Amino acid sequence: MDAKAAYRELVERGRERAYLGALGSLAGWDLRTKSPSKGHPHRARAFAALSRVLHQKATDPRIGELLASVEDSALIEDPDVAANVRAWRRDYERVTRVPESLAVEIAEAASRGESAWAELRKKNDWEGFLPFLKKNIELKKAYAEAVGYEDEVYDALLEDYEEGLLTRDLVPLFETLKDPATRLVRRIMEAPKKPRTEILHRHYPKADQEAFILEVIAELGYDLEAGRLDETAHPFAVRIHPGDVRITTRYFEDFFNAAFFGSVHEAGHAMYEQGLPEEHWGTPLGESVSLGVHESQSRMWENLVGRSRGFWEHYFPRAKARFAALADVDLEEFVFAVNEVKPSLIRVEADEVTYNLHILLRFELELALFRGELAPEDLPEAWNRKMEAYLGVVPKTYAEGVMQDVHWAGGAFGYFPTYTLGNVYAAQLFEAAERELGALEPRFAEAAFAPLLGWLRAKVHHHGRHYPPAELIARATGEPVSAGPLLRYLEEKFGALYELT
Ligand code: ZN
Repeated sequence: MDAKAAYRELVERGRERAYLGALGSLAGWDLRTKSPSKGHPHRARAFAALSRVLHQKATDPRIGELLASVEDSALIEDPDVAANVRAWRRDYERVTRVPESLAVEIAEAASRGESAWAELRKKNDWEGFLPFLKKNIELKKAYAEAVGYEDEVYDALLEDYEEGLLTRDLVPLFETLKDPATRLVRRIMEAPKKPRTEILHRHYPKADQEAFILEVIAELGYDLEAGRLDETAHPFAVRIHPGDVRITTRYFEDFFNAAFFGSVHEAGHAMYEQGLPEEHWGTPLGESVSLGVHESQSRMWENLVGRSRGFWEHYFPRAKARFAALADVDLEEFVFAVNEVKPSLIRVEADEVTYNLHILLRFELELALFRGELAPEDLPEAWNRKMEAYLGVVPKTYAEGVMQDVHWAGGAFGYFPTYTLGNVYAAQLFEAAERELGALEPRFAEAAFAPLLGWLRAKVHHHGRHYPPAELIARATGEPVSAGPLLRYLEEKFGALYELT
């Protein structure tokens, strides 16, 4: 087979899958924003039909033949070809190693688990939920055996979300974070200075929130001619295809933070997708690299930019002009309030400091489950013990404890670590960007976000999946992945806000 023709066919097949996937994404966006409920059962069947077609296309033996013919040719010396072929090979091997019957069983158990969880959580019924959880764990163990792993079962699960990430590297990374983060939370709790958060719970009319958000995200660099903002119960960002990357948010008229920071977060995801090289659409070079890197982009815009003093130096006067609720509030008070640190039971409501402890707890429990060191029956007790140790709070119900997240109900083990990895990467990237560009907060105060976005475009977005995530971060920052920058950032920022000594 002619290698050039083989490569062309691989690209064409990749694009075809990408376009079909794009229609699926569009239908998913529609389902979660606009679609009438009587059509939902049919939509579910449409998704199942589409995913069968995509699975057949992804496992077609022809792909293996085409890859082999490019791998054996001189064409593989082209770095772009090599990067695409490496990623295609990896994906092809992983998807073809899982027997179709197992893949179907996993998908069905996930969907049953999620529906059951939604009902059982309302009733605080842990005993009822346990069989679904056990089934998911058992199936994911079988999955790991089928797909293969480096050292241990959990590696196979991490690999689904963060290519190349190994448990043996993740454990020490998270360990360096745990004690300093726990200590920082304690010091903040003991600090006499507290923010006046009541100001965030005044009346913020929805129409004004929306107008303000649209103004801000456009100035950050989210291209609204290649995107849009809609309302949903659970906010998300989705790329349909280049030129169409949408975000959603949720408004509370009695709470400023939810829609504002949620939208900036989703705009961060969307700007990454808008920055992927369009000429590589449908191939790995045109795809985002991992959940961790994705989350680094959203967290950076949400927290390192959107919760910075510099940012609000520019936007607070505009917010004040728009919202009567802020009439008696000054800049310092506002910045302190949006950065409140307070241990809480619920992960999705957690602040920048306590958030990572929620993740560490979940990671340690998942690892113990898959190493056989913890029985699923004993999860609630282990959960509560760790909550007490890390955050000093203990849930009174399963619903606000071990049953609060959908992830385990859907079998998504290995997903949680990517949230904290996102924070780790974000701080490391931001520190490197400042080394090259100079201090960024004074730029934010002038609404100059293009230098940071341009840097991220060049160092992260532009590369697609050219390098595995850890290598991408190391190349962008000149250093291996480490928690050092995140700890420095948290201690400096919150030390100053809470006047810690
Ligand atoms: Zn996110």
